[in-house]
Amino acid sequence: MSDPLPAGSTVGILGGGQLGRMLAMAAANLGYRAHIFEPGPAPAADVAHAWTQAGYDDLDALRSFAQACDVITFEFENIPADALHVIASTTPLFPDRRALETSQDRLIEKAFLRDIGLKTAPYAPVSGDIHDVLTTTGTPAILKTRRFGYDGKGQARVMDMGEAGAALAALEGAPAIAEGFVDFSTEISVIAARGQDGSVAAFDPGENVHKDGILDTTTVPAAIPASLRTDAVLIASQILTALDYVGVLGVELFVTPAGLIVNEIAPRVHNSGHWTQAGCAVDQFEQHMRAVTGWPLGDGSRHANVVMENLIGEDIARASNLASEPGVQIHLYGKAETRQGRKMGHINRVTGPA
Ligand code: AMP
Repeated sequence: MSDPLPAGSTVGILGGGQLGRMLAMAAANLGYRAHIFEPGPAPAADVAHAWTQAGYDDLDALRSFAQACDVITFEFENIPADALHVIASTTPLFPDRRALETSQDRLIEKAFLRDIGLKTAPYAPVSGDIHDVLTTTGTPAILKTRRFGYDGKGQARVMDMGEAGAALAALEGAPAIAEGFVDFSTEISVIAARGQDGSVAAFDPGENVHKDGILDTTTVPAAIPASLRTDAVLIASQILTALDYVGVLGVELFVTPAGLIVNEIAPRVHNSGHWTQAGCAVDQFEQHMRAVTGWPLGDGSRHANVVMENLIGEDIARASNLASEPGVQIHLYGKAETRQGRKMGHINRVTGPA
């Protein structure tokens, strides 16, 4: 294994939100400088060494940014192809373009998952007659835009064929896929990492509850049989290896009577992995930084039971009350403006030893 980047090296982070902020702090803990690229505003820039405030269409700014960094990573997946080309041809990028290109497009992502033998919801690209498409997937179904969807955005539910036209119109002509509805009991996710030497480490799966399409809580341990926990970790390892991946990856899964079904993958640190800050010696942010800078992966075993709760919009007003509760760790993102549906911070509540 090659040596890790020397202390004082610069890690570029594309995206300046809360994930970038926590990655920048992890970079600092390993002796590195973080350089954020973000059109703005950038809560990550508050804790970083440098900030390039420019758009993803400013290829000169991207090139200078890349030249100033020793390695580059990202906190969000919707990086335009031209920007990626400039970055990846200048400076090492982890995870690499293949991981991004796979997860940026729901159709490519689903085909990749099926190709490596994993189960997904029944799906079909939306093209031609929508009724034929929905005959393939069955109803109820969900139409999802192939790109740029997050937190349930760019989605329209179709309960029966009669709703097909209206659901299609809601997507305003964006390329989309249809997915058959999965009758799941719970949603879980597994956060796992692969190092530059090919070693893999996974955190325990967490159980996720969403509210208004946004993650509300993640609880570890997930209340699922041990065999499913093992399956979740094996699925994540399979994906990491198939993509020859370097860094942390999030895999969202549905728990069904027929086993685990992969919903989607996120080639980055993930909101449902924030509990690791209070539950593990090495959290997902340090693990990601270790992977991209060539350190050995850390110990991801869980020493505590934790409930992570997102502070969304006005929830932030509860932060000072929560701060006095036993076992509560507070993480605020420093966002100047509170808006409905905006992730303002999160807490990790330690509920006992593992
Ligand atoms: P996504 O943006 O794909 O993660 O979808 C957001 C949420 O919609 C998921 O967390 C699920 O609660 C729900 N969902 C997405 N796809 C399906 C599906 N095929 N069947 C049932 N529920 C789904």
